[in-house]
Amino acid sequence: STAGTKFKKLCMQNKLKLLDASVRHLGTDINYVVLENMYAELKEKVEFHFNSSVDDLEASSDGYRVICGDTGYECDQCIVSVGRSGSKWMEKICERLDISTKSNRVDLGVRVELPAVIFSHLTDELYESKIVYRTEKFEDKVRTFCMNPYGIVVNENTNGIVTVNGHSYEDPAKQTENTNFALLVEKHFSEPFKDSNGYGESIARLSNMLGGGVLVQRFGDLIRGRRSTAKRIEEGFVRPTLSAEPGDLSLVLPKRILDGIIEMVYALDKIAPGTANDDTLLYGVEVKFYNMEVQLDENLETTHKGFYVIGDGSGVTHSLSHASASGVYVARKIAEK
Ligand SMILES: Cc1cc2nc3c(=O)[nH]c(=O)nc-3n(C[C@H](O)[C@H](O)[C@H](O)COP(=O)(O)OP(=O)(O)OC[C@H]3O[C@@H](n4cnc5c(N)ncnc54)[C@H](O)[C@@H]3O)c2cc1C
Repeated sequence: STAGTKFKKLCMQNKLKLLDASVRHLGTDINYVVLENMYAELKEKVEFHFNSSVDDLEASSDGYRVICGDTGYECDQCIVSVGRSGSKWMEKICERLDISTKSNRVDLGVRVELPAVIFSHLTDELYESKIVYRTEKFEDKVRTFCMNPYGIVVNENTNGIVTVNGHSYEDPAKQTENTNFALLVEKHFSEPFKDSNGYGESIARLSNMLGGGVLVQRFGDLIRGRRSTAKRIEEGFVRPTLSAEPGDLSLVLPKRILDGIIEMVYALDKIAPGTANDDTLLYGVEVKFYNMEVQLDENLETTHKGFYVIGDGSGVTHSLSHASASGVYVARKIAEK
């Protein structure tokens, strides 16, 4: 927990704000155990169908019909939980069932990877520090996100677009010598533009076009206005944990976003000296797509009676704990009936 930590003052002195947060780290490896336990608990009570995608969902006079290939399932209460990867599917269903949606935010940036010792004074005490900075030039908000001490950087594939993400293991044998975290710039759009995810996708596509996937660049190369090369990365002191194409992020990210990231790297360098070293690696692009927000009432029920949307697919939750809680909440509401 960040409660009472001395780092709050240090951050404040350097124009950074350390948010109040309690973090419970499970680790990618423990997550498997949690899922296995849930499965063991439920397998006698619930019919599971793995690797079967739901193609369609129809509303009928007395309930809903869930269509998977040639098979259809009838129900009077239907809970949809398709996560971020199901956002396009969700959009299609909402359009068809005439359920309102809105989307006006996307967070764009990079994933930073550096030697774990540079951040260890923060990560050993707090594990994850959620730090916000307001840029001098544009007064945009830049924040650290998803900090992975001793973790690895990974590709994330959302509807065919490859972006970057990170995770870490609880088991010390699987940990690395690096820490990674995202630096994201919040982008809110005003009327008439509505397709914030489309904007994020276009920028991610640009990096995929130039690098065939995720690009990686040394901070020193970015500042000098040159692309990174395999040789320069090889000669650096930071061993990348993801094999990405060395390139130039300034050809991908809009100036306003890139300026914000550079300002934030220098601000973080004041509380964690070494963050702005030439060899610090920046992977791009990291995009935090916000699922369009589905119009739901306080029970997470749509305008169609008995049709609920939970988890990140609803656009209401954005994390494991919130997504899980939304499921428990709806289950209780239905049980009450
Ligand atoms: C690399 C990475 C690291 C993360 N780290 C963290 C973290 O440290 N802390 C945190 O709180 N959150 C983290 N998150 C976010 C977290 O994973 C999500 O917030 C959470 O999983 C949302 O849960 P959900 O049940 O709503 O969706 P999901 O977990 O995405 O589950 C939705 C499921 O629905 C399936 N699906 C989609 N469409 C269909 C369809 N048409 N038919 C059938 N099935 C379908 C998907 O395949 C998926 O299995 C991370 C995410 C990633 C990718």
